[in-house]
Amino acid sequence: MEHFKDINLERIESARRRIDHLICQTPVIKSHHLSERLKKNVWLKLENLQPTGAFKLRGAANAILSLSDEQKLGGVVTMSTGNHGKAVAYVAKALGIKATICISKLVPSVKVEAMKLLGANVQVSGENQEEATEHALLLEKDKGMTYISAFDNPDVIAGQGTVALEILEQIPQVDTMIAPVSGGGLMSGMAFAAKSSKPNIKMVGVTNDQEPAIYTSIKAGHIVQVGESESLADALPGPINEDNEYTFEMCRRYVDEIMLVSEEGIARGLAHALLKEKQVLEGGGAASIALLLDKQAEDFGENVVAVCSGNSVSMELLLEIASRYKDQI
Ligand SMILES: *Cc1c(COP(=O)(O)O)cnc(C)c1O
Repeated sequence: MEHFKDINLERIESARRRIDHLICQTPVIKSHHLSERLKKNVWLKLENLQPTGAFKLRGAANAILSLSDEQKLGGVVTMSTGNHGKAVAYVAKALGIKATICISKLVPSVKVEAMKLLGANVQVSGENQEEATEHALLLEKDKGMTYISAFDNPDVIAGQGTVALEILEQIPQVDTMIAPVSGGGLMSGMAFAAKSSKPNIKMVGVTNDQEPAIYTSIKAGHIVQVGESESLADALPGPINEDNEYTFEMCRRYVDEIMLVSEEGIARGLAHALLKEKQVLEGGGAASIALLLDKQAEDFGENVVAVCSGNSVSMELLLEIASRYKDQI
């Protein structure tokens, strides 16, 4: 496949070598429950088992390891809804680099605590992601830090693309990969990597049904500014910038379809993951499972791999949801 701007398969393959010592090649497990239900082979790619609890470690590791020595010395700054911040904090700590994470008031406290535990300077700056981003960009300008976007950065996208390279080796017969979409970094990288290697593969994104940025923008044919609703899948809502360089166009080109799941569906996905698959997932992490439970899977072929993207969830909330939905999964 042709390159997209400065992204090509070689860049994703070299990301894989670069981040190998910091990340875990996560397992793919067969889901007997979902396979039985859908009369297909369904596997789960367990990115919830990364040391930071989410795939975001891949992109953050690749982006930070690619910085110059001077940039490393100045430290890194980012805005995050949680998992990217955790990943940046983790990588920065491993490499002895200073990290500042700007978050909005909507970030749940389990994620804030995890970032602090990793030694990052966490600044709650703003009511929403837009305000927190503004603050982060100010720090970049004033303090000589390097800003690491959670998704619209070629090194982050290349890092996330390594998920697909692993799946292609683990399940070579895969017909469809499903992964959640927020800013679109994961799906941009995965879809580019997967289609470069296997052009006929189907790439399906999934997101929550309240004003999803990439979904709404693709439908409109241009970037649409959306609000930021509260969701059980707190990693999924949020805007993409007007000046988005990569992820909108990459998702538009390489992702076959983006499908929506409801809040109820996400809750069932969480409960299913815990009670049937014995996996702890957060809302966004369970979106792919939610889609399959909705049985929106007729056109996915025989062999489906669903990415479980993260596990940052409050145990209290998870157990409450699991007991509430245990008869509906
Ligand atoms: C960030 C995140 C997503 C969405 O990834 P994008 O690259 O922003 O599309 C999905 N699930 C979890 C758990 C995340 O942390």
